[in-house]
Amino acid sequence: MDPKTIKTIIEISYILAAVFFIFGLKMLGSQKTARKGNLISSVGMLLAIVATLLNQGLKFEWIAIGFGAGALIGALAAFLVKMTSMPEMVALFNGFGGIASLLVAWWEYLEKYQGNTQLTSAPLGEWIVPVVAIGFAVFIGGVTFTGSLVAYAKLAERIPTQPYLFPGQVPLNLLLLLVSLGLIGLFSYNPAEGNLYFYALLALSFLFGILGTIPIGGADMPVAIALLNSYSGLAACAAGFVLTNTVLIVSGSLVGASGIILTNIMCKAMNRKLINVLIAGDLGGAKLTKKIEGEAKPISPQDAYYIIEAARSVIFVPGYGMAVAQAQHVVKELGKILEDNGAEVKYVVHPVAGRMPGHMNVLLAEADVPYEQLVVPEDVNPIMESIDVAIVVGANDVVNPAARTDKGSALYGMPIIDVDKAKTVIVLKRSLRPGFAGVDNPLFFNENTRMLLGDAKSSIQALINEFKD
Ligand code: NDP
Repeated sequence: MDPKTIKTIIEISYILAAVFFIFGLKMLGSQKTARKGNLISSVGMLLAIVATLLNQGLKFEWIAIGFGAGALIGALAAFLVKMTSMPEMVALFNGFGGIASLLVAWWEYLEKYQGNTQLTSAPLGEWIVPVVAIGFAVFIGGVTFTGSLVAYAKLAERIPTQPYLFPGQVPLNLLLLLVSLGLIGLFSYNPAEGNLYFYALLALSFLFGILGTIPIGGADMPVAIALLNSYSGLAACAAGFVLTNTVLIVSGSLVGASGIILTNIMCKAMNRKLINVLIAGDLGGAKLTKKIEGEAKPISPQDAYYIIEAARSVIFVPGYGMAVAQAQHVVKELGKILEDNGAEVKYVVHPVAGRMPGHMNVLLAEADVPYEQLVVPEDVNPIMESIDVAIVVGANDVVNPAARTDKGSALYGMPIIDVDKAKTVIVLKRSLRPGFAGVDNPLFFNENTRMLLGDAKSSIQALINEFKD
């Protein structure tokens, strides 16, 4: 086949792949079509990969090595990484996406532009776009990489999840941003002799990624993860311009744009201003500043059984602890028993519950909880007083009333699920420890709250056993 025909086939395949991506993404918008959407996007990706392999002059031995190593690491990760560590994995994936784009841009710089005065003496229009794109791919890729490593460490709780703040942090971050943009300009002006600017940009991008993420506290991590996801897309898009590869430009923009939409959703869910989270941390104290009154009242599964057995309306509020306990299947089983017992049962999912966007939805879908029974906080908060029992399954921050009442708290302003207004609240967790944001929870000490302490799965199983006895 002549090279022109091959090029046409590649371009058409790329357009088709982009169409698959767009339809796939659209279908991810609803739980009913999400699986199909994933499949369609995967087919698009396969098409894009096959088309790319049709390019001439590829060194297949290197591709095979990369493919083999990637497949091995991916397969091992899929088998070895626990479901509860998925959010950390997602954070790492974002980082790997960023560093991959950075490496592509770096290689192109070394291959084509470094020391190549001949190329850059040609008219500006012939080379400026890929060169500016190299600058942006390196900057955004570097920020995404180190930022994601910090996010990973915070999510895995290898470093403290509290915001790390120091005097002059905001001006320093702004300065780093401006200097980095200046370096992109200087590098693009004369890439043939731009070695110094290039490597300074590389170093600053790594530094900016770290300094930009450490001020983000545990409570605001969802915003950071969504944003880093968006950055990884933007870095890929810039790499697409470096290589003049249409499908990379399109897919990178799709990831970049959807990441920004998700960031916005997360900001709304937490009532945060993006700019505050980005350059100044969450601006809140990490401790509860109001004194908690009252005493926590533990309850046994037997006594909890009497309460829920008599209930006519029950809501389940899942949180990160449900993921840890892998309690989703028993939760669904108990929900079904309660329904058969004549209660109306709903599952209330907070957008930031768990450790990654959609975390609870994925777990509940895995347990086949009917979609119609999933509701959002806005649906249930206005009628909370009429709910007989709210069963909180390993959720903490997303039901912490301090978010409504305590201005000094890191959670202040975040819309929560107002379970404290239900007639009775049964909280399933192992201790009275605070949640991810490190803020103590006054809910545990309320008059209408009962603490069913222990692993969530065992506690729910004990309740199910009570119904069966
Ligand atoms: P939290 O992290 O606030 O609390 C989870 C609770 O689960 C803990 O207090 C823990 O208490 C309990 N728990 C842990 N293991 C078990 C178990 N085996 N059985 C029973 N309980 C258990 O969870 P939420 O879902 O309420 O809130 C999510 C938090 O994570 C928010 O602060 C959010 O901002 C943040 N976040 C969310 C992300 C997202 O995208 N969704 C991403 C990053 C952060 P105990 O130890 O006493 O059992």
